[in-house]
Amino acid sequence: MKITNVQPIQADAAWTCYTFVKVETDVGITGYGECTDWRAPNAVAGGVLDMRPLIIDQDPMAVTLLTAEMNRHNQQAPGGTMGRAIAGIECALWDIKGKAYGVPVYELFGGPFRDRVRLYWSHCSSYRARYPELLGTPPLRTYDDITNLGREVVQRGFTALKTNITIPGEPAEVYATSDGVLQAGVLDKITNLLDAFRAGTGNDFDLALDINYNFKTRGASQIAKILESYNMMWLELDTWEPTALKRITRATSTPICSCESVNTIVDYRPFLDAKAMDIGMVDIPWTGFAQSKAIVDLAESHDIVMAPHNYYSHLSTFMAAHLCASSRCIQIMETDVDAAPWRDEFVTELPHIENGHMIIPDAPGWGTDLNEQAITDRPWQGQIPTGLIGKK
Ligand SMILES: [Mg+2]
Repeated sequence: MKITNVQPIQADAAWTCYTFVKVETDVGITGYGECTDWRAPNAVAGGVLDMRPLIIDQDPMAVTLLTAEMNRHNQQAPGGTMGRAIAGIECALWDIKGKAYGVPVYELFGGPFRDRVRLYWSHCSSYRARYPELLGTPPLRTYDDITNLGREVVQRGFTALKTNITIPGEPAEVYATSDGVLQAGVLDKITNLLDAFRAGTGNDFDLALDINYNFKTRGASQIAKILESYNMMWLELDTWEPTALKRITRATSTPICSCESVNTIVDYRPFLDAKAMDIGMVDIPWTGFAQSKAIVDLAESHDIVMAPHNYYSHLSTFMAAHLCASSRCIQIMETDVDAAPWRDEFVTELPHIENGHMIIPDAPGWGTDLNEQAITDRPWQGQIPTGLIGKK
C-alpha cells in the first residue's frame, strides 16, 4: 500500500476551527485524524503541508517509522504547532491501519480494556456565558441560572462536569487574568459558582474547576485551599514548571490535574518524576496517539491516573475513546456538550452516549469518518474571530 495524498481539511465550528488530516492510499483506504488548535489553525494546516513530501509514496502501515521520520524532520523544534500537524497525520495513519486490518484502533494497542468510559461535561457554563445566542441556550444572568444548568447536566445523564470561573451577569463572563495574580474577590466568585452548581447537581456528583494558566503558584494554592471543603473531582491548572506544580499539589488535599499542554513524552517525564500532580491530562490531537498511549503507560508506572483532554470535534472524541479502551488507569474522559449547532454534520457516526458514558466504538479504524461534503459546506474562513484573541 502507498500513500497517494495528504491534506489538511478545516471546518468552521463557530468560535473554533476544526483541523483534520486526510490521508489517501492507492488501495482506496482513506484515513482521518484530528489536530485542532484554534489558536493557530493556519500554522497547523501549513505544518501538514510541510510534512507531505516525507510521506507521499510511503507505506502507511509503517506508522512508527513515518512518525519518527516526521519528528526527525522537526527535531530542532519538537512538539508545538508542528507537533500537532504530525499528530494529525499519525492519527490518520492509525485509522488506515485499523481499516486495513478490519479492527478498531484499540485492538492495535492491546484493547479493549473497557467497553465504555465515563464522561464529564466540559466548559459547562463557559461556552453558554459567551455564546448563548449561537447555542440557543438560556443566558446565565444569575447564580440561579447556574443551578438550573447543574440540574440540566444531571437530567441529561452526566455524573461529572468541569467549569471555568464563570461570573453570571448581563452579559455573563469567564474570568481570566493577564498577570497571574489572584485579586481580591475572586475566591468568592469561585465559591459562589461551585455552590450554585452543587445546589443543582446534588452531592452525588463530581465537580471540577479549570483555572488554566490564569494564576501563578501562590494564587493557585489559595484556590486549592478554599476548595478543600468542596470534595472536588479536581482543580485543574497549567504550568510549565514541575516543581511549582508539585508545591501546589503537596500543599492541599484538593486533587490537582494538569499537563494538557505538555505534548511530548520527554517534556512530560519531569512532571511524573516529581509526582507533580494527582491526575495527568493527555491531548491526542496535540501529542499523537502512540505517544499519548506511552505517556499514559508511563504515568501508570508512577501511580498517576490520567484523563484525555478533548474539546474538539467528534472525531477527536472517538480517538480519545480508543485511548481509554486501550489503557488501564483512566479516570474519566472530557467532552464538550455545548458546541456549534452543526458539529454533528461533520462526521458519519456520532458518539454513542448512555448514562454519562461513551460506548467504545467497535468499527474498524476510529469508528467514524468525516463527512467531507458537510465540511465543504461550512469552510473555515481563515481568520480567528478577534474577540477570541487571548481567551480560552
Ligand atoms: Mg484544562
